[in-house]
Amino acid sequence: MRTSWGSATDRGLVREVNEDALLAYPPVFLVADGMGGHDAGDLASRIAVEEFAQLAGQAAATADDVHACFDRTAARIRAEFTGGRQGGTTVAGVAVTEHDGGSYWLVFNVGDSRVYLWSGDVLEQVSVDHSVVQELLDLGEIDLTEAATHPERHVLTRALGTGDPPEPDYWLLPAGLTDRLLICTDGLTREVGDDELARVLAETADPQDAAAHLVRLALEHGARDNVSAVVVDVATSAGAHDDVHITVPRTGAELGPYAWDEMLNGVTVPRRNRPATTPRVAPGSAAPDPNPSNEELPS
Ligand code: MN
Repeated sequence: MRTSWGSATDRGLVREVNEDALLAYPPVFLVADGMGGHDAGDLASRIAVEEFAQLAGQAAATADDVHACFDRTAARIRAEFTGGRQGGTTVAGVAVTEHDGGSYWLVFNVGDSRVYLWSGDVLEQVSVDHSVVQELLDLGEIDLTEAATHPERHVLTRALGTGDPPEPDYWLLPAGLTDRLLICTDGLTREVGDDELARVLAETADPQDAAAHLVRLALEHGARDNVSAVVVDVATSAGAHDDVHITVPRTGAELGPYAWDEMLNGVTVPRRNRPATTPRVAPGSAAPDPNPSNEELPS
C-alpha cells in the first residue's frame, strides 16, 4: 500500500514551548502531546517519536512492533523522570499492517490525542479519549456541550509515563482506496469543531495543504494549546509524497530513521471487517520479545 501524507505543528498563541511532537514516516504516523511543563513535556513526546521512529522504513508494522514501541517509550520516560520530576505524553496514530495479503490500518491510542477516519464523506472518530470527560460522557452524566467546558476536561485517565505499564487501545481497519486519516492533538480538536474538520478534509486534496490548513484554523481560533495534525491518504495515483517529516520539539529537526532489522512477525490481531462500530483488538498477549537488542538502540 502506498501512502501520501502531510503534517503541521505549531506552538500556538499562548504556550511558550511546543510540547507536541509528531512522526510521519511510513509505516507509522502519530502525534504525541507531552505534559509536564518546560523541559519535561517536550522531552516525553520526543521520546515517543524516537521510539516509534524505529519502525520507519519497514514495509509494514505488526501489532507487536507497535506495542513494543509503547513499552520502550514508557520505560524511557520512567527512567528519565525521577526524583519528583514529572513528565508524560499521549500517543495516538496509525501503522500500516498486513494480514492475509491485505492492508490494514492499525490505530492506536493512549490519552486524548485522536485518530479520525474520513471515508465516504463521513468523519468518524476512531480512537476513544482516555479522559475524565470521556468517562462522564460514556456514563451519560454530561453531554458534548458540557464536556467542552468541564473543569476536568484536561484530566487524562491514561498516559505514558505515569508509572503504570502502558495500556494502549487498538483498532484494526481494512484500508480502503479512498481513506483519509486525520491524527491530531487536543490543541486542534478544542479549537476546531468536527464540521470544520470535515470541511477541510473534504475540500483540500493535498494532505500537506490539509494539515497546514487545519493548524492555521486553530491559530485563527486562538490556539490556546500546542496544535498538531497529520493527514494520511492512501495514494491512488502518482504524485504521492516520498518526503518524510519527523518533528520534535525545540529543534524541529528532521531525524533519519534508525536502522532496525527486527523481523516482522505475523500479525497477531484477528481479521475484522470494518463495522459501524470499530472493533477494539488487543495485541498478542503472548507477544514474543519484541527486540532483544533494545539496550543497544540509539536513545
Ligand atoms: Mn495538548
